[in-house]
Amino acid sequence: MTQETLALHHGYDRGDFGTMAVPIYQTTAYDFETADTAANRFALKELGPIYTRLNNPTTEVFENRFAAVEGGEAALATSSGQSAVFFAVANLAQAGENIIVAKKVYGGSTTLLTHTLKRFGIEAKSFDSDNADDLEALIDDKTRAIFFESLSNPQIAIPNIEKIVKIANKYNIVTVCDNTVATPILLQPISHGVDVVVHSTSKYTTGQGLALGGILVARKGLNEKLIGNERYAHFNEPDESYHGLVYADIPLPLFTLRARLSLLRDLGATPAPFNSWLLIQGLETLAVRMKQHSLNALKVAKYLKSHPKVKNVSYPGLESDEQHHKAKKYFKDGLTSGLLSFEVEGLEYAKNILNSTKLFSVVVNIGDSKSIITHPASTTHMQVPADELEKSGIGQGLIRLSIGLENANDLIADLEQAIG
Ligand SMILES: *Cc1c(COP(=O)(O)O)cnc(C)c1O
Repeated sequence: MTQETLALHHGYDRGDFGTMAVPIYQTTAYDFETADTAANRFALKELGPIYTRLNNPTTEVFENRFAAVEGGEAALATSSGQSAVFFAVANLAQAGENIIVAKKVYGGSTTLLTHTLKRFGIEAKSFDSDNADDLEALIDDKTRAIFFESLSNPQIAIPNIEKIVKIANKYNIVTVCDNTVATPILLQPISHGVDVVVHSTSKYTTGQGLALGGILVARKGLNEKLIGNERYAHFNEPDESYHGLVYADIPLPLFTLRARLSLLRDLGATPAPFNSWLLIQGLETLAVRMKQHSLNALKVAKYLKSHPKVKNVSYPGLESDEQHHKAKKYFKDGLTSGLLSFEVEGLEYAKNILNSTKLFSVVVNIGDSKSIITHPASTTHMQVPADELEKSGIGQGLIRLSIGLENANDLIADLEQAIG
């Protein structure tokens, strides 16, 4: 079945009353009715809800549906994208081990993986995901994950997924790809061999800026990479915290199972059932929205490209863009989502454009149905020294747009009056 159909129907059969909308199971706990059922649920002999910190029927519909749309086997929803990224990595690495992280990733992922995890004894090495030429040399016996974004926020860079996956498989290391900006509608990392996909569902999935959320999706067949793999002893040896349970002995998708039974149990970054319900609504229309976001962004990019006061435009969907060949290789129909950036002369002029737009909101978010304008050098990247910023392509005159679902001609007219 195709993604559009799965997003509307998968994992929900109308319930006891024929309710068309998925019900919100707003409850913390579940009546087991008998002591044996309770014991069997805890012993995993019988699958079913235990406590909403671990699972919830509304959240489960979202998880199963998202996994299907992403082309994966199983999913685990979390309360935010940050917790999804943390769970993905903490499910693979522990103190004394290392992970390899792309240089071009979301700022929150850099601070989490490079700085906070260091305090937990996990070292992050960084690699250049544009070509991945330096990746293989960074791998050692203690490497447990390779982390990158399919379309990086905010650089809008497309990685060499094929090469990253090939190297990771050579060394039996799990790959984790953050697919927040591309979404499964435009790119399915699993179809390119990626093992685990993570998302901040706070962006395009919710769509209208309504709910924070995150999700981890594991590919079918990932168990075979984990079972018997020396790098992942914790999947193969008894888990003291779960009565000596050996994950590898359980015939279920192990990556998300362990993330749920161990990490979600202990850390509690659980989504509220109401947020899962909002995210289900978002997922239902994700396909039509992503196509429109991309078409609108391409129109705006073409307009900016032709503007005499715009020094350059970065949008992989533009034929003239240096990443266009990668966009064609990895993205469905060459559609590359709603993020684009452009450069004008100097800080003051850039700020003046932000202040003059009427339709674009000055917000440091992305993926809303309403268009957003950001000046990275003075906000999200203000801690970085100016010379380093210039080197990483974030100049004083750089403006980032998250193109929404307004009519593209209205957006162009607004930019026209703002750029002057
Ligand atoms: C926003 C974002 C995150 C963090 O997600 P939250 O839901 O804000 O916690 C992670 N990765 C990417 C690519 C993002 O854009």
